[in-house]
Amino acid sequence: MRPSPIQRLAFAGRSFLLKRDDLLHPHLSGNKARKFHFLQQKQDIKEIHSFGSLHSNAMYSLSFLAKESGLSFIYYARPDPSLKSPKGNLRAALDNGMILRPLEEWPYDKALARTIQIGSRLYIPEGGRCPEAQEGIAILAKEIVEWAKKERTTPTIFLPSGTGTTALFLQKYLPFRVYTTPCVGDEAYLEEQFEALDPTALKPTVVPPPKKYRFGRLYPELFALWQELKTQTGVTFDLLYDPIGFATLLHHELLDENLLYIHQGGIMGNETMIERYKAKLDKIAKTDKGTQ
Ligand SMILES: *Cc1c(COP(=O)(O)O)cnc(C)c1O
Repeated sequence: MRPSPIQRLAFAGRSFLLKRDDLLHPHLSGNKARKFHFLQQKQDIKEIHSFGSLHSNAMYSLSFLAKESGLSFIYYARPDPSLKSPKGNLRAALDNGMILRPLEEWPYDKALARTIQIGSRLYIPEGGRCPEAQEGIAILAKEIVEWAKKERTTPTIFLPSGTGTTALFLQKYLPFRVYTTPCVGDEAYLEEQFEALDPTALKPTVVPPPKKYRFGRLYPELFALWQELKTQTGVTFDLLYDPIGFATLLHHELLDENLLYIHQGGIMGNETMIERYKAKLDKIAKTDKGTQ
């Protein structure tokens, strides 16, 4: 893997730096390429098992890696209406040969924070929340350290969290301060995830989002922020995590020339989010007209 580029951009009148992990690989969400890097070293595996939502970037990334290595990929999920006409991550994962099973058949605790290997079957926790993920995230940290040395700078790092795996291991391997915000659950939930994964590691600094957002829910102000990001920077960000990330940075006035934001990919998941936002915004426009 070649280091992903770092660019200087401006948003809302503030200069900042962007680590383009979204450009690492066309078929892997940036941070999933890092988190699942350890799979390349696994020789004795025939099946990958994991679980989570039918829209997850981790699901799609695992389906791609399994296909590339000639492995079976079995995914445990709760059926939902999107199965009738699959789009985005789900469509692509099914095209890669993903086998779906009911969530109740996942044989382990859903809070599992490590992989389990039974013969040639490897069970991976939701979102790749496992100690092995640090192998690839250590490479990301090394790229940042080498860049900072060359630039003679001491950046502050920011990235939005789901399971918190990426943020935790980045802080573990970086001599710089790592800030993050929870996009799934609240600050307490995120701190618990850190503890479960690596009780002894130095933890990232958790900053709260400006308000409580429910993961995957639609917030017109976040869609507007995402569009504004694209207009002002020319970069397409993901719609689940990045708008919460930037809303948090603006709220706490953390966006400045020393800040290095990690773009963690996830663009393939945007297709279904944009469709849902368009439907919602149409509905709002119609209701507005009706009340005038
Ligand atoms: C998976 C993912 C995250 C969350 O990563 P964690 O390591 O679970 O915190 C953030 N952004 C994008 C785009 C992702 O695909």
